[in-house]
Amino acid sequence: MSLCHPDKEGSPPKVSCGACCGLFNLKLDSSGYKRLLKERTDEFRSTVNLSVRHTFPAFRQHREAVEQGFSKNDDMTYNCPFLGYVDEKEARIGCMIHPIFTGDPKSQNFSFYGTSICQAYDCKNKEHELVDLWEKIFLDVTEDSVQFSHLASDHILCFVLERFLVLKGWSVSEGLASFEGLFASIFRIRLGLVGKVFPTSFEIRYESFPDLESVYSFLREYLGEGISDLWEEIKNTPERV
Ligand code: SF4
Ligand code: SF4
Repeated sequence: MSLCHPDKEGSPPKVSCGACCGLFNLKLDSSGYKRLLKERTDEFRSTVNLSVRHTFPAFRQHREAVEQGFSKNDDMTYNCPFLGYVDEKEARIGCMIHPIFTGDPKSQNFSFYGTSICQAYDCKNKEHELVDLWEKIFLDVTEDSVQFSHLASDHILCFVLERFLVLKGWSVSEGLASFEGLFASIFRIRLGLVGKVFPTSFEIRYESFPDLESVYSFLREYLGEGISDLWEEIKNTPERV
């Protein structure tokens, strides 16, 4: 398992991430994303026959026409309609044409990106060496795959929080373990931005956050008013002695 489809203490994953397939490039709110995912899934299940090849492009063509009417955050970013629910409970999202479902190693070639890009892409959080520590906090604070996808793809916020720990003298793993409650609270505030920010995981980080002031300034600007209740706790986080 990976950050895309996390495994919580050996039990089957209940949430997953699909941010890099462009879901949040569409400007919807949380229930709008869930409605869209359900619509795609129902249409895929009722119209695509895995052994009839032309049903894949027909599905894609129809969904692209339907979703063309949605407002987009960035017109240059593609939102792939093959992202839908991949479990019976319709809780986990993922690639409905992944080879594990189709039995065809090249089935993602029916998509805009194609098999080689779909299978090779790893976002910055997924390839992070401490991904398991971040994943644990994400799983603790999220209730559904829309929420989980927002946190799993937010590599800039994770980077800033790591800088915060390092600038306070902690190693990232030690700091995450020591202040898990604070980080969980910060991520809960971040979840308030679902429907207001539109992550893809491709975002470029332009700043290095060299000092605590730059970290605080980012958190204030990004998380807005929501962070004010935590402000004292953040600033008073002890330095490692
Ligand atoms: S954004 Fe990252 S964690 Fe999410 S599905 Fe893509 S690669 Fe996986
Ligand atoms: S075909 Fe590629 S972009 Fe589309 S849902 Fe699957 S993995 Fe994502």
